[in-house]
Amino acid sequence: MQDEDALREAAKDCVHCGFCLPACPTYQLWAEEMDSPRGRIYLVNQILDGASLTATAAEHFDRCLGCMACMTACPSGVQYDQLIEAARVWTEEGRSSADTGSAALAEDGKRTVRDRAARAAIFSLFPYPRRLRALTAPLRTVQRTGLDRRLARSGLPGRVSPVLGAALRLAPPGVSAAAARPLPERVPALGTRRAVVGMLTGCVQSVFFPQVNAATARVLAAEGCDVIIPRGQGCCGALSLHSGREAEAADFARRTIARFEQAGVDAVVVNSAGCGSAMKEYERLLAGADAGWAERAAEMSGKVRDLAEFLAEIGPVARRHPLPVTAAYHDACHLAHAQRITRQPRELLRAIPGLTLAEVPDAGTCCGSAGVYNLLQPQAATELGARKAESVLATGAPLLISANPGCSLQIASALAARGEHIAVAHTAEVLDASIRGRPL
Ligand code: SF4
Ligand code: SF4
Repeated sequence: MQDEDALREAAKDCVHCGFCLPACPTYQLWAEEMDSPRGRIYLVNQILDGASLTATAAEHFDRCLGCMACMTACPSGVQYDQLIEAARVWTEEGRSSADTGSAALAEDGKRTVRDRAARAAIFSLFPYPRRLRALTAPLRTVQRTGLDRRLARSGLPGRVSPVLGAALRLAPPGVSAAAARPLPERVPALGTRRAVVGMLTGCVQSVFFPQVNAATARVLAAEGCDVIIPRGQGCCGALSLHSGREAEAADFARRTIARFEQAGVDAVVVNSAGCGSAMKEYERLLAGADAGWAERAAEMSGKVRDLAEFLAEIGPVARRHPLPVTAAYHDACHLAHAQRITRQPRELLRAIPGLTLAEVPDAGTCCGSAGVYNLLQPQAATELGARKAESVLATGAPLLISANPGCSLQIASALAARGEHIAVAHTAEVLDASIRGRPL
């Protein structure tokens, strides 16, 4: 976390113009000043000036998606990401409070037992691919027998825990541990080698979307890259970092940095928007760390590239075969707002013969996934998911392309809730299908 002087400087850049308000999904939902970026900056300022973190203030911070749409909208360049990151740490650690009114925080400003238990369950599961994988067999059984649908209709899981209800609703169908077999440690470049790149396999991506990782490795190899996929890589720390669990995030970051340093690669390519964004933040996360970690983190952050960003940088060499389909492209917030990558994926997709790209009407608005937001704030996430599903359906496209596993799960679940279904694919899968001349 930045020191308080740096946070004060960042907060001072806000001139209270309000240009960010219409872009903010939580302001769109509730039209409450304190659920807008400007309101949250005001709360950060109050705390920096010595006020206690009240339960109500903490709830406004918790309700922030961390989508960074406000940063794209802000003409003054306010570094809201640094401010909300600090606010999340304060909230996670808990502070004394005289205020009440939050479901998640008790009167003393600490999280309630129920909220702590929910968070403990989430953070002892999702960042660990092996634990997630162990869940795939029971999940498949529940889905095969239709028990998941019966449970959802009964509303029982949601009554036991809103997190459980949301998790069951979001779980992708047909996941199998067998499909998630590890990729080889090295996938050689096809043709002339142009680069040696490392590839992050991720947690949710590797367990629920192994086909995306396989497609990513094939696309990179087809574009002339030796792809190094270090064994034993775990979570990059994105979920922890974006939830105020700074020490945990720093541990994950150190492990990830060490793995990729050993690989000796020119770049580290990441196909999950949230992970890429977090790895680019390693430099800031470990800025004050000793034993050389600050320098190592800065070097690693400099090597991290989103897949589309990297492919646009090196330029295409692999032949594209026609893929006659109309596809809607969904901008993941951690790609569009946090990494400012919107042009590259569109250019890559438009270069596929036969593919027509449709723009989603509210492309800059979060779908409600936002890391673990849809587990912890299921009501708001469901509302945002429903709005996004409507926008996607308005394009009329039979295919949705998304570069973030959380967004794919969230939008598919929102479509299913309306009784609709369209195919959802990652940019890597679409490029792979075109390069290999196979249908999606
Ligand atoms: S964050 Fe930026 S856009 Fe929002 S009120 Fe402050 S200066 Fe204006
Ligand atoms: S990060 Fe997203 S939800 Fe949070 S204040 Fe900014 S625009 Fe609103």
